[in-house]
Amino acid sequence: MKAILKSNSEVGLQFTKDAPEPKIVNPTDVLIRVRATAICGTDLDIYKSDPDLAARMKKVMPVITGHEFCGDVVEIGKAVKRTRVGDFVSAEMHILCGECYNCRTGNGHVCINTIIKGIDADGCFAEYVVVPESNIIKLPADIPVEVAAFMDAIGNAIHTITPIEIASKRVAVLGAGPIGIIGAAAAKLCGASEVLVTDISETLLKMAKENGADKVFNVSTPEGRQSFLDDCRSDSTRKGVDVVIEMSGHPAAYEDLFQCVRMGGEVVLLGLPKRPLTVNFTRDIIFKGLTIHGIIGRRTYDTWFRMIGLMQAGLLPTLKRIVTHRIPLAEFQKGFDVKLKGEGLKVVMDPQ
Ligand SMILES: [Zn+2]
Ligand SMILES: [Zn+2]
Repeated sequence: MKAILKSNSEVGLQFTKDAPEPKIVNPTDVLIRVRATAICGTDLDIYKSDPDLAARMKKVMPVITGHEFCGDVVEIGKAVKRTRVGDFVSAEMHILCGECYNCRTGNGHVCINTIIKGIDADGCFAEYVVVPESNIIKLPADIPVEVAAFMDAIGNAIHTITPIEIASKRVAVLGAGPIGIIGAAAAKLCGASEVLVTDISETLLKMAKENGADKVFNVSTPEGRQSFLDDCRSDSTRKGVDVVIEMSGHPAAYEDLFQCVRMGGEVVLLGLPKRPLTVNFTRDIIFKGLTIHGIIGRRTYDTWFRMIGLMQAGLLPTLKRIVTHRIPLAEFQKGFDVKLKGEGLKVVMDPQ
């Protein structure tokens, strides 16, 4: 079958027409024919051979990359109960052990034995993928294929607002990439009183404005950054926003986030800092009484149910607009070039 592999630690990925089709091995396995798959920021890091990821993947290379997809079930193992051949599905690609303390206390998203398909095992940049039934999410038929292709990323965005009681809060979202735009739209949909979004791209800020952001700020200049901070602190009884969600990974955004949040506010971190950061714990966290939430993956499976619910509640038009490119899997290089140049939002690839 067609697939995209990471075969070595050099920069790039390899397309093949001859990858072996995956087979049902365990009785709880489900075989899915991939209809569409999407490129994620992590895939770009894999493409660039980020040292940590390359070292982790070396043990399993050559490995099929990709972890965002949707497709149709074509075969089920003997012990599969609620999934049927023909179901339109996506899947959580973090495979959890089910046995560790976190799994057994309802916190499987921080399973200590997580295996990520597309990194630690074969993923979905391919015509077929096998996933355990526990990880399968049946999708309503009215979710378009190109949106269902990136449920994983939508889940990241929804997970960032889940720990917060968002209704009536003033929220700043730093970074207007696909996840930032979805997070801002979802925060507004969930009742945030005001959503402020920052980025350095006018195109992305315009997009954020059209999808729920009340105010956008271009922080590419010192004046732009200052006007953002001034707006955040404009309420003299709060002197900062209630919630700040970091989606950019930019070191400057990490500086801004401690300045724009009010005392006693909440900080949600999803963007991965591009370099190690220095934080003044006393001034910026302890004396400010902040609550900090680190976000990994999606809560299993609370986040999945929430994202489907929010799509039905009005998030779908934003998600459709996020898809800027759709290409055949064989032309993956074009898609990666678009993302590496920072030109598109979501790039969806069709394997069939
Ligand atoms: Zn992803
Ligand atoms: Zn576990």
